[in-house]
Amino acid sequence: MNNFDIVVVGSLNIDVTVDVPQAPSAGQTLLGGDSRRSGGGKGGNQAVAAARLGRRTAMVGAVGAEDGEFLLNLLREEKIDLSGVRPVSAPTGQAFVFVDTEGDSTIVVSPGANDHVEVDRELVASARAVLLQQEVPAAVIEEAAAVADGFVVLNPAPARPVPASLLANVDLLVPNRGELLGLAGVDRGDLVQLAQGLGTRGPVVVTLGAQGSLVVEAERSTRVPAEQVKAVDATAAGDSFCAALADAILDGADVVEAARWATRVAAVTVTRPGAMASLPTRAELGS
Ligand code: AMP
Repeated sequence: MNNFDIVVVGSLNIDVTVDVPQAPSAGQTLLGGDSRRSGGGKGGNQAVAAARLGRRTAMVGAVGAEDGEFLLNLLREEKIDLSGVRPVSAPTGQAFVFVDTEGDSTIVVSPGANDHVEVDRELVASARAVLLQQEVPAAVIEEAAAVADGFVVLNPAPARPVPASLLANVDLLVPNRGELLGLAGVDRGDLVQLAQGLGTRGPVVVTLGAQGSLVVEAERSTRVPAEQVKAVDATAAGDSFCAALADAILDGADVVEAARWATRVAAVTVTRPGAMASLPTRAELGS
């Protein structure tokens, strides 16, 4: 069962997506378009993104009886190893996604089965790279990062405090601006200084949506502009970005080269609707 390039430890969700005229605010009722159901969850998205880039990929997660097969079949189609996905008696995770006319999404996640993920330690230890996000319990992330032998990427989303013991086991941290500010415990500040002050053992890549990303290393920082594309749905942009970073690093790229590749992959993702459905294959990227 060994020899996986990428093992993803994370969430598997059914996404229920509705197009809305603008993001809903507190106390507001909005009329949106028809709802549609699709595969998602940051973990599942990252796994599908990695597999479509041609990486031998395994998933560690959990699904409930209802809707679980729907998700597992989507992953099977991508040839993702599912030996680390546990069937549990909680409901399959769901995400309610509201996409506005700018392509930006507002998301409410109901974790369900994702709160019952258990780390397959052998699988995680065997991976060349391990992708982590925060839609599963903190203890799961910490355990996975601690047993990983390969390159560890943490996407600290959704935002929550990350203990120093976890940061110390992360080779590449990929927060967005809000997550970085939250990790630094401030409302505003110089992103480079904040990233350098976090105490990670490797670089930090701060994603900035349509503004691209900022690669922060100990001695330098590099701005990587986004590609100019017509965004229709930013769902899974960050997930495809993280998977593509790992993909490039496994090929020996440095972190700035990896961010340029990830920018290309994420740009395609934002031009298409949906989460898993929007993720490009290596053939589509022409490389
Ligand atoms: P985000 O998680 O929204 O910061 O997005 C992750 C990455 O996706 C960014 O660093 C960009 O490279 C890319 N991206 C996001 N939104 C857009 C957009 N509107 N146009 C082009 N690229 C985008």
